[in-house]
Amino acid sequence: MKFATKVIHAGIEPDPSTGAVMTPIFQTSTYAQEAPGVHKGYEYARTQNPTRSALEKNLAALENGTDAICFASGLAAQDAVIKLLKSGDEILSVNDLYGGSYRQMVRVYSAWGLKSRYIDMYDASKVEAAIGPDTKMIWIETPTNPMLNIVDIAAVCAIARQHGILTCVDNTFASPYLQNPLDLGADIVLHSATKYIGGHSDVVHGCLIVKDAELAQRLRFLQNASGAVPGPMDCFLILRGIKTLHLRVRQACENAEKIALYLAQHPKVSKVYWPGFENHPNHAIAKKQMRLFGAMVSFDLKNNTLEDATRILSNTHLFTLAESLGGVESLIGHPASMTHASIPKEERLKVGLTDSLIRLSVGVEDVEDLIDDLAAALA
Ligand SMILES: *Cc1c(COP(=O)(O)O)cnc(C)c1O
Repeated sequence: MKFATKVIHAGIEPDPSTGAVMTPIFQTSTYAQEAPGVHKGYEYARTQNPTRSALEKNLAALENGTDAICFASGLAAQDAVIKLLKSGDEILSVNDLYGGSYRQMVRVYSAWGLKSRYIDMYDASKVEAAIGPDTKMIWIETPTNPMLNIVDIAAVCAIARQHGILTCVDNTFASPYLQNPLDLGADIVLHSATKYIGGHSDVVHGCLIVKDAELAQRLRFLQNASGAVPGPMDCFLILRGIKTLHLRVRQACENAEKIALYLAQHPKVSKVYWPGFENHPNHAIAKKQMRLFGAMVSFDLKNNTLEDATRILSNTHLFTLAESLGGVESLIGHPASMTHASIPKEERLKVGLTDSLIRLSVGVEDVEDLIDDLAAALA
């Protein structure tokens, strides 16, 4: 099956008890057994739920995996991945990691003996030298937030494999429509389905996808044993959102390209970060591993002042000032004070994250209206 068919059909069967074409919301915590241990494959809803099972089958197909395991949020999914490790093990991660991922690794798991190091992975040749005796996992995020750097997934995963190191790719910013890390050699793909997969900014959800039966079994054990499962209503909403994933992401990418080009020629804009530009440092890798260049665009202002950025951020009408991304509606954000406020200013500046950097999550509205909105705010 091709992608556009999979989003609609993979894992979805009419409900056998009623014929309902859409997967019902099985709002139950437990299931009747005919005799002790004799049941229809469902015992207790932390362990299995039919709405969740349908979603997991669909997600596994979208990432060309064999198993998907769903969680109450993207960070709950990350929590399960980290629990594959033990005290003293080290994660090697990209240096402009999503703030919440960094917080969990450093402020939760370091107390349990997890070590983590954050390196420049944009040049894959630097990864080999960074591997230490305790490195047990490499954590890739690409494109990154908010600088939209690109990691060569195939190159880094090949190095990890030679050293027997697990790889996990946070594929949230690309979505399964743009990029499939398992095909490039990754062991685990993580999504905050809150973003593009759900796509309507109405649910928080996370998932992991793998193609190795033993790894799937370990992660499913952790899902059940730690218990951060999503409810059936949330699974239903994600399933509903997925059906238009390809249409939404394709349109959002098309809009983002036009907006990136518009901003690049604007006299008040000093720099536009978007992997589709030929002068983006990792454009060639993006072109190799992504279907389109994504719908996230960051830009900086010529005089670099917080005041100018604040004026723009408070004066758009279609772009809503809010955290998060990947919904049908366009959002505008200020990484320095919002998503990356917990990172010291010197650290932020090193990667180009200035006080005047503005991040856009481009939605699927009419792009002329979006450009008019930005033009008015920039004026
Ligand atoms: C939002 C996000 C997460 C965390 O997901 P939640 O669903 O909010 O827990 C992880 N990684 C990236 C790249 C994100 O954007």
